Amino acid sequence: MSGAVVNGAVAIAAETGKRLRAAQPLNAVLDWSQELLDAEAGRIDAMPGGGMLTGMPLVLKDNIVTREQPTTCGSRILEGYYSPYNATVVERLRSAGALIAAKTNLDEFAMGSSTEHSAYGRVKHPMDGSRVPGGSSGGSAALVAAGVVPAALGSETGGSVRQPASFCGIVGIKPSYGRVSRYGLVAFGSSLDCISVFGRTVNDAARVLSVISGPDPLDATTVDRLPMRVPETLPDLSGLAIGLPAEYFPRDLHGGVAAGLRVTIERAREMGAQIREVSLPNSAYAVPTYYIIAPAEAAANLARYDGVRYGARRIGSEGDIRSLYRATRGQGFGPEVQRRILVGTYVLSAGYYDAYYRKAQQVRSLIADDFQRAFGSGIDLLLTPTTPTPAFKAGEKTADPVAMYLADVFVCPVNLAGLPALSIPVGRSEGLPVGAQLIAPAFEEERLLSAAAALERVIPAEDELR
Ligand code: GLN
Repeated sequence: MSGAVVNGAVAIAAETGKRLRAAQPLNAVLDWSQELLDAEAGRIDAMPGGGMLTGMPLVLKDNIVTREQPTTCGSRILEGYYSPYNATVVERLRSAGALIAAKTNLDEFAMGSSTEHSAYGRVKHPMDGSRVPGGSSGGSAALVAAGVVPAALGSETGGSVRQPASFCGIVGIKPSYGRVSRYGLVAFGSSLDCISVFGRTVNDAARVLSVISGPDPLDATTVDRLPMRVPETLPDLSGLAIGLPAEYFPRDLHGGVAAGLRVTIERAREMGAQIREVSLPNSAYAVPTYYIIAPAEAAANLARYDGVRYGARRIGSEGDIRSLYRATRGQGFGPEVQRRILVGTYVLSAGYYDAYYRKAQQVRSLIADDFQRAFGSGIDLLLTPTTPTPAFKAGEKTADPVAMYLADVFVCPVNLAGLPALSIPVGRSEGLPVGAQLIAPAFEEERLLSAAAALERVIPAEDELR
C-alpha cells in the first residue's frame, strides 16, 4: 500500500457526511448513512491500485437501483423497496473507486421538471429556497450545486439532467442513446431513457461519463463502441462550425437567457468558431410529440406495479384482485404519474393509436431528420439556450401541467433524436444561473465535451449578465 493515500477515502467519507448533514434543508437526499459511507470508504482504501474516480464522492438519483440502499423512485408505491442487484453503472462506479454517498430525491418516476412531484416533498434550489432546482433529477443537481459532491448521476427521458443543471448553475450531460447501460435504471420511457451526469466542471462530468459508458451484455440497446475517452480541452474552437437553430431563439426569450447566449456566441466566435444560422423546423412539435411517446411507454412500463409483482400491496375494499390493483395503484401513485398512465393508455388504445401514437412516431422521425440535415450540412455542434427562463418559483407551475411541460421545449427534441447534448453555466440573471446547451451528432460526446471545456475556461459562470 502506498503511504500517502491510506485512509484517504475514509477522510473523504467523514467530510462528505458532514456536508450531507449541512445540506439537509434542501430535502435533496432520500437515503444515506454514515455507516455505509464509512464501509464503502474502507473498501476503496483497500483497493489495490487506484481507479479513475478513486475517492470521488458521488450521489445517485433514486431511480438507479442499488443493493445496499432502498430505491423508491420518489414514489410511495416503492417505499422500502430493495433491488436484488446493482445497476451496471453502480458496479462500474464502484470498480473505479467512486464513493457512492446517497440516493437523491426526484419527481416521482422521473416525471416532472421541478422535483415538486416527489412523494417525499419538494427539493429546494440551493441559492434560493423559494425556487425549484429543476427536475426531474433535482436532488442530484442541488447537491452538486451546493458543493456536497463534485458529480452525480441523474437520468434523462426528456431533459431531466440538462434542465436542472441549467437552473442550478452546473454542468449536465446527456449521452447518446445506447452509450450508457440502462440495466438497473427503473424504466420510464424505454426508447428515451438515458443515465446522465452532473458535474461541477466539464472535466468531472467527462470522467464519470467515461467510466459508466460502453457496451453492456445486460442491456441489448447499448451500442458496441469503445467507452468514451476523457477528451483534451481544445485550445480554441477554430475549425468548428457552430449552428444556431433559429427556432430556439424566439423573440420573447427571457432577457437574461438571451444575454447568456449572446456572451457564449461572442466567446465562441473569438475562439475561432464559425457561427451559422440553421433551421430545425420540426423541433416546434417536440413537446407534444414527447408527451405522447413518453406517457405511452410509461403506461406500459408502469403496469408492473400491481401490488403482486412489484409495489407495496394494498388490499382493496372488495377483497378481490381488481380491488387490490385499484387500491395499490390508486394510493401508491401520485397525481402526475396517474395522469401519464391515463394519457399513455389513451394514445395507445384502439381508435386513437393511429391519430396519436403513430403520428407522434412519424413526427419523431422528422425531428431527428432535421438534426441530421443540420449536421450533414457541415455543422459540427449546435448551440441553444437550455431553458426558456432561469429557475422558477415553487408552486408556479404545479397547477398547470402544460406550463410545466413547456419548461422542456429546448431540451426534449434531443431526447427524441437520441443525440448527446450538455448544458454549461454561462452567467447569472438577477443572481440565478443561466445555461447554454451544446448538441452534437450521435456518439460525438468527445467533441461536445472538448468544446464545452474550452468555453468553460473563458465564460465566468458566476458573473451577472447584462
Ligand atoms: N420533464 C419531462 C417529463 O416530465 C422529462 C423527464 C425526464 O427527463 N425524466 O417527462
